[in-house]
Amino acid sequence: METDVESSMTQAKNDRLLQVLKQAGLRLTPQRRAICTWLAMTDRHPSAYDLYEDLALTHPEISRATVYNTLNVLQELGAIVEISFGSDQIHYDTNPEPHVNLICLRCHTIIDFRGQLDVNLLGERVLHETGFQTAAAKVDLVGFCAECRAQRLAEIRKLASQPTSRQPD
Ligand SMILES: [Zn+2]
Ligand SMILES: [Zn+2]
Repeated sequence: METDVESSMTQAKNDRLLQVLKQAGLRLTPQRRAICTWLAMTDRHPSAYDLYEDLALTHPEISRATVYNTLNVLQELGAIVEISFGSDQIHYDTNPEPHVNLICLRCHTIIDFRGQLDVNLLGERVLHETGFQTAAAKVDLVGFCAECRAQRLAEIRKLASQPTSRQPD
């Protein structure tokens, strides 16, 4: 059953995050456990603010500081990966498997590519061609999502169809 696989994957992800916190010497408080569960269940690439805002609904006792420092520890120990857009907030990738992120420059949506593209295969090719052995892989494709492309196209068409405000001579 697909749901069973998904929930066992979530469970494994959750256990791994808790393990990392424990190794870092942090106490597994109910707040930190709630943060790990939330991260294990999401397939979004949340910012600290997204996580805080969402968790505060069910766990009003969680402080911003706890959220930020827990994310920081997880990131420093490699359990989650930072993705940043220059001046925008930092987002976190919680998927530990080698995969490809599709990052939209316009709406800042980040999704995991689920199609047929094997990142491990990329590592094997690089090893074969250069002798460089990949320890971890994160591939980011940066561009514009289908929705943003459609919106952009509509904007351009609208501009093109508008009569110019200046009168022709
Ligand atoms: Zn977009
Ligand atoms: Zn991802």
